[in-house]
This record gives sequence, C-alpha cells and structure tokens, in this order.
Amino acid sequence: MGRLCEICQQSRPALRRPKTGQQVCRECFFKAFEHEIHETIVNNRLFKKGDRVAVAASGGKDSTVLAHIMTLLNERHCYGLDLFLLSIDEGITGYRDDSLETVKRNEVQYGIPLKVLSYKTLYGWTMDDIVREIGRKNNCTFCGVFRRQALDRGAFMMKADKMATGHNADDIAETVLLNLLRGDIARPRAILDIIKSGEDFRIASTAKMPEQGVCKRCGYISSQEFCKACVLLEGLNRGLPRLGISRTRGSGKKAPVVIKEEGEKAETDKVTERISSISVEF
Ligand SMILES: [Zn+2]
Ligand SMILES: [Zn+2]
Repeated sequence: MGRLCEICQQSRPALRRPKTGQQVCRECFFKAFEHEIHETIVNNRLFKKGDRVAVAASGGKDSTVLAHIMTLLNERHCYGLDLFLLSIDEGITGYRDDSLETVKRNEVQYGIPLKVLSYKTLYGWTMDDIVREIGRKNNCTFCGVFRRQALDRGAFMMKADKMATGHNADDIAETVLLNLLRGDIARPRAILDIIKSGEDFRIASTAKMPEQGVCKRCGYISSQEFCKACVLLEGLNRGLPRLGISRTRGSGKKAPVVIKEEGEKAETDKVTERISSISVEF
C-alpha cells in the first residue's frame, strides 16, 4: 500500500504542497487552503464589515480561485463584505474575448455583480487608439504603465474600499523583485507584510523606506509630481505622445509635461488610503 495523506492519514495524497512539502489529499488541501486564507484575513484585519471589495477578475486561474474563495469565506464566516468582480477591458481587438467570457461565467457562478471597465472609460483611450496614434513600436510603455494602474483606478472609480487580487507564488516573487529593482517599495511592502504571516519572510525593520508621494492628478502612488500614466495621457491628449516616453531619468523632480491641477487634490489623497490590496498565495 502506498503512502497516506499526512494530515488525515486516511486518503491517498493528491499532491505535495510546495509551501510545506506535505503530501496531502484533495479534501485536506482544500481545508488547509481555505483555513490559511481565512486566518490571514482575520489576523491582518484586512477587511471590516460593510467594506465594498473589488475582486480583480481577469478570467485566469488565479482570479477564478480568488472569486471562489472570497465568496465562500464571506458567506461561511459572515465577513459582511459587499463583493463585486472588477474586470478591465484594454480594448485590444480579439485579445480579451475569451477571458471576458470566463469572467461572465464567474459572475453567474458566484452570484456577485460584475463591472467591466474599459481603457476608454479609465483613460479616455483604447489600446487600439493608442497604437493608431503612436504606432506599434512604443506601445509597450503605455501597455505596462496603464495595466499597472488600471485596477487601482477602476476600484477607485467604483468606490471600492479595498481590492483583492489573486496571485500564485511565482507572481508574487516576480512582483516583489521587480518592485524592489524599481525602488518602488510602497506597494510590495503591503504584500510582504501579508506573506510574512504565512512564511518567515520579512524586511529588516530598520530598513529605510523611501518617502512615498502620490500623483497630484490621479492619486496613484508616484515618486514624481505626476504619475507616469498621467504624463503619458497628457502627451496623448495633446497629440504629442512622445513626450511621455522621452527620457527624464536623472533630471530629478521635473516631469516632462506640466499638468494643470484641477482641484482634485482633496479627493486624490484618499486613494492610497482606500485602496489596499491583498494577496492570496496558493
Ligand atoms: Zn487528507
Ligand atoms: Zn496620475
């Protein structure tokens, strides 16, 4: 007879958890997984009753598991959360059709409302429009910057108090590393704090965190006066798309385009406070 599940000692193991190295059966894995996420949520006081929570939905595996676990735990433990699925449509012809179908299935399956926000709504431009304006060559800059901000902007637009995003451990490692390399430590710090509750992972408490400001126009975390997306948008809207791409590194504080402030400051200050994200590790 083969080995038995290391938790219940009864069923055949279905997998070895990379996180613990334990051989576990299906049932025990689900139980442990759900329990750990619940503990993480409770111990870190991630939510309070009545919170409106955007569940980021891309149609991929990670976000489908997230939608499942959030609705399950919200019901089982009476978190009292107002959950909705938030999906971003970049407006690239033919690119999102399949995953949007999956997201729509999630809406039916988990019984929570779905909001799809287009780049057109978020930024005033679809990716197709942008490509038409600047050609294919430079649109990676736009893609990367706009994609990074889309969920935050969308959650804010939908008046969410919190946002939940689903990641696997590889994602997290990549994000943390990328952000560390970029010197943009504010976002991963939130992620690290949560991971460390499950793993023994921490940044030295004596490490100095850079001062973190927010974009004066949209409120997104930015070390410059205006965030990159706002600079890119300003260039696009003025018909000078290259402005945002041109190199400003090393020139210190000056953004390449001067963007007028439109009395949005009081509101934008709230963004970073309101939108915090949680990570779920599989
Ligand atoms: Zn078992
Ligand atoms: Zn901005």
